[in-house]
Amino acid sequence: MENARLLLGGGYHYPHFPYEEREGLSAHGPPAARPTQLLTLTPWLAPIVSEGTFNPELLQHIYQPLNLTTGVTVFAVGKYTHFVQSFLESAEEFFMRGYRVHYYIFTDDPAAIPPVPLGPHRLLSTIPIQGHSHWEEISTRRMETISQHIAKRAHREVDYLFCLDVDMVFRNPWGPETLGDLVAAIHPGYYAVPRQQFPYERRRVSAAFVADSEGDFYYGGAVFGGQVARVYEFTRSCHMAILADKANGIMAAWQEESHLNRHFISNKPSKVLSPEYLWDDRKPQPPSLKLIRFSTLDKDISCLRS
Ligand code: UDP
Ligand code: MN
Repeated sequence: MENARLLLGGGYHYPHFPYEEREGLSAHGPPAARPTQLLTLTPWLAPIVSEGTFNPELLQHIYQPLNLTTGVTVFAVGKYTHFVQSFLESAEEFFMRGYRVHYYIFTDDPAAIPPVPLGPHRLLSTIPIQGHSHWEEISTRRMETISQHIAKRAHREVDYLFCLDVDMVFRNPWGPETLGDLVAAIHPGYYAVPRQQFPYERRRVSAAFVADSEGDFYYGGAVFGGQVARVYEFTRSCHMAILADKANGIMAAWQEESHLNRHFISNKPSKVLSPEYLWDDRKPQPPSLKLIRFSTLDKDISCLRS
């Protein structure tokens, strides 16, 4: 903890690890003398959700009577239509089970979307969009497409909206503990690395620029959401920033994920999901992670993106 300090106006300075605080590495004891501690609150007092931080029965008593509808946007363009079946089947088993859900699948090939049987009060809309040959183009147009879709119809149809990658599956329950005004998920590759190593866009000329003194967590672009009006503002702002970069001939380091991270620094999420909600099967499961709820499938990127 020797590095911990708070700089007024200059952003937060964390100990070595922003989310996973490895007490064993501190001066207080030998390595592995203490269990790994996970943060449960951000420095701006937003909850960081993980197994053991909430009571599912209690949340069900609170949320079930509200009759809320949760929307999900996923993009399945080109070969990514192959992922839709396992995504939907696993979502039917684990995602907001017992609640109203509306899936919105954006695709260039509606005929390739399989007819997965849905439970009661669960709807699916397939929304045709134009395909793009470059995967960078697909991933930088999601913000624009989602914001337009919210303005056109989703604002009337859902209360909360999650925007998710399709190359993933649900493995354990994802319930109302995830609902909040503006929700981000900690990227599985960066929950245990020092902030200085976060792969933010570091070029000043980009609208996604993040200075060394800034940053809280590194969030994943594969999961974000919130109250539908907040997701509209969020996706619209990210889209505007992406357009500004395009006008300057710049592509941010990690495309829309860079803009998402920039935006979450200035507009703090009201709830943060632990890597349980955004994991990657290619990584070994660390002991600090009790439950993997939503995870990236091992896929051959080079084959899919060609
Ligand atoms: N995507 C798609 N077709 C493509 C590339 C991407 O539909 O050819 C969508 C899909 O929803 C995917 C998301 O964009 O989950 C993000 O791309 P990808 O998963 O390849 O990015 P990564 O998770 O590897 O950063
Ligand atoms: Mn992905």
